[in-house]
Amino acid sequence: AASADVAIADPSGLHARPAAQLIARAAAFDARITLENVTNGRGPVPAASLIALASLGARRSDVLRVRATGRQAAEAVEAIAAILQREAKAAAPAAIAVSGLAIPVAPGVALGPLVRLVRSLPDVPETTVDDIAAEVERLRRALELAAQDLDNALRGSDILDAHQALLCDPALVDEALSRIERDRCNAAWAFCQAIDAAAVIYRQLEDPYLRAREADVHDVGHAVVRALLGGSAGTVPDGPPAVVVVDDLTPSEAARLDAARVLGVIDRRGGPTSHAAILLRAAGIPAVAGAAALVPEAGGAHAGLDGATGEVWIDPDPETALALEGRRAVLRASRRPAAARDGRLRLACGREIELWANVAGPSDARAARDAGALGIGLLRTEMPFLGRIDEPGEAEQAALLAETFAVFAGAPIVVRTLDAGGDKALPYLALEAETNPSLGVRGVRLSLARPALLEAQLRAILVAGRGHDVRVLIPMVSTAAEVSAVRAALERAHDALAAAGMPHRWPVATGIMVEVPSAALMAERLARQADFFSIGTNDLTQHTLAAERGHARLHALADPAHPAVLRLVRAVVEAGHAAGRPVSVCGEAAGDPDVAPLLVGLGVTQLSMCASAFDAVEDALAGATFAELAAAAEEALAVDEASAARATRAAARRPG
Ligand code: PEP
Ligand code: MG
Repeated sequence: AASADVAIADPSGLHARPAAQLIARAAAFDARITLENVTNGRGPVPAASLIALASLGARRSDVLRVRATGRQAAEAVEAIAAILQREAKAAAPAAIAVSGLAIPVAPGVALGPLVRLVRSLPDVPETTVDDIAAEVERLRRALELAAQDLDNALRGSDILDAHQALLCDPALVDEALSRIERDRCNAAWAFCQAIDAAAVIYRQLEDPYLRAREADVHDVGHAVVRALLGGSAGTVPDGPPAVVVVDDLTPSEAARLDAARVLGVIDRRGGPTSHAAILLRAAGIPAVAGAAALVPEAGGAHAGLDGATGEVWIDPDPETALALEGRRAVLRASRRPAAARDGRLRLACGREIELWANVAGPSDARAARDAGALGIGLLRTEMPFLGRIDEPGEAEQAALLAETFAVFAGAPIVVRTLDAGGDKALPYLALEAETNPSLGVRGVRLSLARPALLEAQLRAILVAGRGHDVRVLIPMVSTAAEVSAVRAALERAHDALAAAGMPHRWPVATGIMVEVPSAALMAERLARQADFFSIGTNDLTQHTLAAERGHARLHALADPAHPAVLRLVRAVVEAGHAAGRPVSVCGEAAGDPDVAPLLVGLGVTQLSMCASAFDAVEDALAGATFAELAAAAEEALAVDEASAARATRAAARRPG
């Protein structure tokens, strides 16, 4: 046995970083090591748990007694004492960028106080499980996924070690495992109970700095529960309207942001075609992504951003702030009156291009109607239910659909069946954690795996669709068999409603999303079963270039203007037109002023986008003839890179 009394040298006490180092170092010795705070009488606790070490409440100058038994006891005590005596290097003042470029996500200028999105644990259902071994395995898998997730989010940050230490902290993991085994509770509930117990330990500490590390525990709890349930519950702190900074905004968080309180969003990660980005655009909240280097952990007090250019200012000086106010006023004044729009625009040669809207529910349907959309080109039916724990019943779904359809009464409405999975987690579905969720059981695959869920939704669509020009769209189709299976489910839904004497829409045109390369390549065959095609360039780009759509570092690669994507679009347009099937584009590329002209040049005549993009797309197409756009598209197909493809349209626009 060996022992030593050591006074803590670090001005912040035994905080998370040295504690994480201490645990890692302690594990390397063949010794049982404990620490006790002689100054305040707490402990002894084992040197294996971050939470146990935190409970010592060890501040600067407190004397800790390090004791060890075992073969390497003496070496262990010496090494641990050295860590405790190490004085923290003076923290460098946080370097705050005055200005920099992030990825543009949602247009608009925002300026205001900077606040962080606060993440607490989402509501977790207290259910019991039958298969304990499977539940233990789920927890282990979720811990691995959370470790990967935190590693991605916090790489290079000095809090990563502490988070990783918490993920294997026996005070959390053993506690959660024993709850699963003893109480048969589900993994998420068990882990949350362990997190709550750990949080209480932190809350009781006197030292405010150490007490604040409770946030780390919640962060870790959040990551694990997210891996298990998919949900997420970030909230904006109370206070005046603010610019919100966040790490990887989830779709369910984006859906809950209140445009009256959120002036703008700076995502330190993320990209322009993530579902969170789509929801921000729909809500009219200016946003940028991939801003980790611009907004350090320490943040700032104020921020400005321009969501169209990607510019970000942290603590802008008064002159910059004034200039930003000016930019905001100009933007507001330049918005076009919607009354002038009838859902169609004419090229200089007379060809008509239709402007349709992507919506999620009644409120953005109203905004789209007011902006003059021709119809709904994509109703994302999963969006209203992001974060829901209880399954929406058939009647609730039908009521919500009917409210949305009523906004576009008399106009064409394309309703997509549930596109859950991937980054769109619906907690009530209790999806299995997947290593590659965007290549997993999502979209139509999930609907076909849960036929009762699919048929309930189809019945709701048919009932609400009575009297409306409703069409059904199938997401993430990769093979013909999926299309025939959904068609068969539609027939069953119709039969069931007819048998029950429920009036409903029938027959109903059924189209497919082309967003998996296999579907694009097989479009000619799929045209036998699909009444129309809608090209989802967001997923099609991600899958063609094998570049995740929400990944900040792959933003330049995941560009729908890449000639590989454009070639697939051309193939689909040719196959569709040869078979007499309409082809629209409903991915974000349709609303991208650089890419929309190329899509039109490839023969697309229906563009479906967030209604706030109408002005920019009209401007991009103004004065062009189809022949000019077709020439630009032809050139774009023949270049090597997306950047060169984008430039072809710009070159075509230059006179001469
Ligand atoms: C797409 O993938 O382009 C698309 C429109 O679907 P979502 O963005 O909802 O995945
Ligand atoms: Mg998609």
